[in-house]
Amino acid sequence: MNIVSRFAPSPTGYLHEGHAFSAWKARARADWLWLRLEDIDATRCRPEFYDAIREDLAWLGIEWQGEVRVQSAHLGQYRAVLAGLEARGLLYKCYCTRAEIAAAMSAPHGGEPVYPGTCRRMSQAERAEREARGAPFALRLDMGRALGEAGPGLRFFEEGMGWVAARPERFGDVVLARKEVMASYHLCVVHDDALQGVTHVVRGEDLFEATHVHVLLQRLVGLETPVYAHHPLLTDAQGRRLAKRDKALTLRAMRAAGVRPEQIIRRFEEAP
Ligand code: GLU
Repeated sequence: MNIVSRFAPSPTGYLHEGHAFSAWKARARADWLWLRLEDIDATRCRPEFYDAIREDLAWLGIEWQGEVRVQSAHLGQYRAVLAGLEARGLLYKCYCTRAEIAAAMSAPHGGEPVYPGTCRRMSQAERAEREARGAPFALRLDMGRALGEAGPGLRFFEEGMGWVAARPERFGDVVLARKEVMASYHLCVVHDDALQGVTHVVRGEDLFEATHVHVLLQRLVGLETPVYAHHPLLTDAQGRRLAKRDKALTLRAMRAAGVRPEQIIRRFEEAP
């Protein structure tokens, strides 16, 4: 079987070793590797990082195949997926402000706090009033209905772990679009992975939990669920996760300091 994977950074900063580790892991696993720039959240992306990502990967010797997919060039596709979900009554408009959401968050059954669905229960009159005055809104997935439509048996195969039962209900009515970010990461990633024929999603374990939501969306939209391989995150000498704000650890800074690509790759080979 041909293994198709992807490296999907967001151009919100220079790549650091942690990103490169994901790219390297995906490269090592795949016969075909896509590079995808996830730039839907335009408020956080900056033009200089688009080319920098390509350049830094090339410097490290990590090659990808085919054309680079830049998500912002395909907004119409994501809009169409959202429109499809909306037409099936699976989305609702949420007019809550950040402060209102923070105040309303509740933690049922001692789980993580989730949005309690205030706007899902809004009266027709109230909804019409907000619409009439053009109040800004986010589109949320009606988790209860979505689960009903999806049916039982949601699961994904995690390499090294086996089948994992997906429990998206833990996340409540997730946001799939908002004013400044017209389609969420969850929606775009699911659409693109399927469109690009990704068979294996190799990414950091910080995204393991998001997979529960991705599996639900795949079922709702009628897409196949790829195999997942979430790898442990690279840590610094003190055992802390590498963060984008640690400028010293960007590939750029390392290169400027005379670090050779082989040294970085050796560290990857030794990582757990
Ligand atoms: N764009 C996401 C990020 O920068 C990664 C998405 C993914 O690999 O699923 O963290």
